[in-house]
Formats: sequence, structure tokens, C-alpha cells
Amino acid sequence: MSESKGIEGADEERRRILALLLAGGAITSVSGACAAAETTDEGLNNNLLWAVAWKQTAAEYRALCYQAYNIARMRLDDALRQQKTGDRPLAIITDMDNTMLHVGSYWGYLVNENMDFFDDAVWDEWLPNNLVTAVPGSREFFNYCSDRGVDVFYVTSRDQGERTYEYALVQLKYLEVPFADEAHLFVFRESSDKTPAREKIAEKFDIVVLLGDNLNDYKRDYYVKDVDERLALMERDRADWGTKFILLPNPTDGNWVRAIFGESEPPPTDENRRKLKAAATRLAWDGR
Ligand SMILES: [Mg+2]
Repeated sequence: MSESKGIEGADEERRRILALLLAGGAITSVSGACAAAETTDEGLNNNLLWAVAWKQTAAEYRALCYQAYNIARMRLDDALRQQKTGDRPLAIITDMDNTMLHVGSYWGYLVNENMDFFDDAVWDEWLPNNLVTAVPGSREFFNYCSDRGVDVFYVTSRDQGERTYEYALVQLKYLEVPFADEAHLFVFRESSDKTPAREKIAEKFDIVVLLGDNLNDYKRDYYVKDVDERLALMERDRADWGTKFILLPNPTDGNWVRAIFGESEPPPTDENRRKLKAAATRLAWDGR
């Protein structure tokens, strides 16, 4: 959200409160109305607050991460038990952002700046600073794989220019995860379609399970612009969740956003805020 948008919003709120007070004959002081309007300037109505606060503080969020990696470990144990001499080697494929790498400091920055939509320019500036932490349970699971001779492949879709690949590799090394090398890192700069990496890895390995925070990390099918179509695809694949694909929670970004807005990184406009509200009230009680 731009600074001018915040000021416009405050003016609108101030006018709205004054109109309400005047209409009700309850006006006692203009300063009261102005004090209410000031709350807008603090960013207290930011669309991101609930989702970001949840990711930053909820024990439930972290428990869901552990749950995901606990299930991954069960799937791996099953695969190892079934493996016979001469079988192809096993591998795990994982997405990076919001799957094994926690980007909370980026979202916290946006909130402090009163921004309420993903911002690509800030993301590109933030990313090389390595202000990341490992998603709970991820490093332990990848080490568990490594200890059992199972390769882990990191597949991400990012574009920070010519140094994109280097930044991603440095982050893996920074997080001290195993297989932090060029043979195990795929970075797609031009597309969010990760299919070529999955196919390449499947040439040599049996993929035990894939991990991601976006169903597009599992199949390209989920890169659609319609909420109901995406929900129907998810129902079609319902037997795969927790068996072939393990999903990490992410309420701030991903291709679910594209289904609402028609694009994955919608600009911070009131038109888009109305679309967000319409999505949130899709199944709303009418109050009667
Ligand atoms: Mg991700």
C-alpha cells in the first residue's frame, strides 16, 4: 500500500465518522472523531494483521509444521521398509519459501510499513539479507533423510536477477541443511512451473513425497484463476494429501491468491481490497 493511499483512507474514515455523528445528533467533539481516524494511520486495519500474527505467534502454526514433517518421516519410513536391493534410490522434493524456510521478518516489515499486499520490490531487497529461519521440523527431517541415504532436492521459483540462484544456495547453506549444493537445487526464474524439476529428478529417483505450501508445488494444474475450479481439483486429488504431497500452512501468499485476484501478486488497490472482502464473505451469514 502506498503512503498516499493511507492518507486517503484516513480522510475517508474521518468524513465517515463525522457524517455518522452529525446524522445521529451525537456530536460532542471533533477531536473524538479525529482520534478514531488516527487509528487508520497506525495501520490497525491492515488486511494482513490476522494472518501474519498467526504465523508469528500461534503455537498451532508451528505444530502444523511439525505435523507435516512428522508425516513426511512416516512416509519415508514406509518407503525404506519396502525398498528392495536393486531398487532405484529414493528422494524427497521440497519447496523452499514457507515450506522449509520461514519468511516472517519480511511480512512483519510490510505490516510495519502499513503495506497490506505482497510487495515484490521489498521481497527482492529483503531476500539477500538472509533474515530467514528454518521452518520447525524441516532441518531435522532433511538430516533424517541424509542419514538414511535419501537425497533431498530443493525446488524454488524466484527471480532476483542474475544472482537468484546464488542467493537461494547461500540460504540453504545458511540454514545448515544437507544437500545444499548445485546438484540438489533447482531455481526457476521465468516461471512458477516446477514440473521440469520433478520430471528430471524422477528420471533417476523414486520420489517418496513432495513438500510445499502451495498445491502448485505438487502439480501445475493448480495454477488456475478460479476458486471453484481449484477447490474441485483439490477434491479430485484428496487421496494424495499426506501420502504423495505434504502441505505446509501459508495464509499470506501462494496460488490460492491468484484464484481470487487473477494474479499471484495483485497490486494494493481498493478494487483488490473489495475482491478480498468478497472472498472473505463468500459464505457469510446474512444476519437473519
Ligand atoms: Mg513456497
